[in-house]
Amino acid sequence: MSSPPLRAVLGTLASYKPSDGLYASDAARTCPLSANESPHDPLPGIAEAIAAAGATVNRYPDPGCGPLIRALARAHGITEDRIAVGAGSLSLLQALFQAVADPGAEAVYAWPSFEVYPALAALAGVESARVPLTRDAHDLRAMADRITPRTRLVVVCNPNNPTGTALGFDELRAFVESVPPTCLVAVDEAYHEYVRDPAVADALPLCDAHPNLVVLRTFSKAYGLAGLRTGYLVGSAPIVEALRKACLPYAVSSVAQRAAVAALGLGGELMRRVDDTVAERTRVRDTLVGQGWEIPDSQANFVWLGLGPHAEDFGVWCAHRGVAVRAFPDMGVRVSIGSAEDNDRFLTVADAWRSSRQMATAGAGQTLRDRKAART
Ligand SMILES: *Cc1c(COP(=O)(O)O)cnc(C)c1O
Repeated sequence: MSSPPLRAVLGTLASYKPSDGLYASDAARTCPLSANESPHDPLPGIAEAIAAAGATVNRYPDPGCGPLIRALARAHGITEDRIAVGAGSLSLLQALFQAVADPGAEAVYAWPSFEVYPALAALAGVESARVPLTRDAHDLRAMADRITPRTRLVVVCNPNNPTGTALGFDELRAFVESVPPTCLVAVDEAYHEYVRDPAVADALPLCDAHPNLVVLRTFSKAYGLAGLRTGYLVGSAPIVEALRKACLPYAVSSVAQRAAVAALGLGGELMRRVDDTVAERTRVRDTLVGQGWEIPDSQANFVWLGLGPHAEDFGVWCAHRGVAVRAFPDMGVRVSIGSAEDNDRFLTVADAWRSSRQMATAGAGQTLRDRKAART
């Protein structure tokens, strides 16, 4: 018996595959360095807010996310009508793609970038134009050149997932100014709190002058609420009003809303944890460079190993040694910055891989770097 026909696009999308062993309760503990989560347990104040919200789950959540939007408006010094809250910034990205999905619509984004963009575009019926990164970073000139009258949305992931590279404020501003006002620009700043380079762009101040610009932030990374699914978007009031309509009602749970308000209130303490992660990022990168790896400067809570054809092998190597990382076939491997202990375990595993490769190629007198240099 054949099953009822569904949209053909569903046949082109990959099924979601959780990282090996991560969710197996009986497995020996795997270092979870594949999803860019905060390694820290929730602060007591956040755990208390979650418990308190549990007492009212027989009621629907506030569909307008009132207290959370008021807290965000205060934090950013903007009016409430310029903020939309979603069940993770993913749901706001989905709303964005759906909001522009007229027949023939195209979206431009860099590649590799956040792996979810292609699926959201395909599901919405928006054609994707992927612009290759140049030296692991956005090539804004090439992206601007790729914009046509059919382009309805440009997504800029800054810092970029999975490479960790970040755009400077001046170059981002020049790019936004060059995009036709009829095309939306979405700057995905999921890792904004980890940026330490003062030249790197914060796109929020650009929103005032550009009604076609929206900025996405999330509580999933620096605020440590990945499991609760809360993100938000800042833009002009008319765009925000339309996007709110494109989101499912009641999508943001009452527990998530209460926890996000509590997390904003505890921002100072949470940002000290982010400082720890940033210090670990420096230590991990310096150690890897000392081992002989080439690692782009990361402004996020992960590092990128541009392994090209060896990416999948390295991912399996790590998984077999109890470290879950994220391999992008034929491109590279993204490794989250976790606890100092988990980072140490990864560094040991990475060093062992390099040693084994060097032994394998010792006869030819080549290191990985030599061979890479020979290829290019
Ligand atoms: C993790 C991440 C997000 C966050 O998604 P949520 O749905 O808010 O958890 C958004 N964009 C990028 C690029 C990310 O890496």
